[in-house]
Formats: sequence, structure tokens, C-alpha cells
Amino acid sequence: MTDSDVWKTRLLALRAETLQSLHIAKDASAPVALDQTLVGRLSRMDALQQQEMALATKRRRQALIQQIDQALVRLDAGDFGFCIKCDEAIAEARLVFNPVVLTCVSCAD
Ligand SMILES: [Zn+2]
Repeated sequence: MTDSDVWKTRLLALRAETLQSLHIAKDASAPVALDQTLVGRLSRMDALQQQEMALATKRRRQALIQQIDQALVRLDAGDFGFCIKCDEAIAEARLVFNPVVLTCVSCAD
């Protein structure tokens, strides 16, 4: 396998994993419908807070899938692993830690 194949495999695995998490978490972000006679106000607030967190996680995962798709396009174009700002190669350790990263350490800020 070439480096490109290795990254493609990693990105596709990460994409599948993220999609699966999205699917599993689907119920958690469903509208909160609690029976007020059974639960107190506090637990309803807890439920709303949990829903808020679930939604934030869902948005993060959806954004990650988009970033992965972009990384796959960049991979096919031969641009993957190069900083979008300075065009230098991004350190491999940085890519291993976050395969959708777009900049090198120097350009990160
Ligand atoms: Zn750079």
C-alpha cells in the first residue's frame, strides 16, 4: 500500500466510525418529551442539558464527516498532508493525531 492508500483507509475508517456514532446517538438528540407528572423540573432541565450536549456532539460529528470528505478529495488530488497556507508537508504525527488537519504547526494559529 502507498501512503495515500494508508491515509485513505484511515480516513474511510474514521468516517464509518463517525457515521456509526451519529446513528447510535440519533435517539439521544430527539426532542425532549417528558411526562411532567413523572419527573420534576430539575430532571427536565437535566434532560434538556443532555439534549443540548447531544446536539453539540452531533454537529461536531457532522462537521467531522464533511472534513473527512474534503480530506478524501484532497487525497485524490495529491494535496493531502500539505499545509493549505504555506504548502509545506504537515508533520506525520500531527496527521496521525488528526487526519483532517489542514495546516502545519507553524500556520495553526
Ligand atoms: Zn503551514
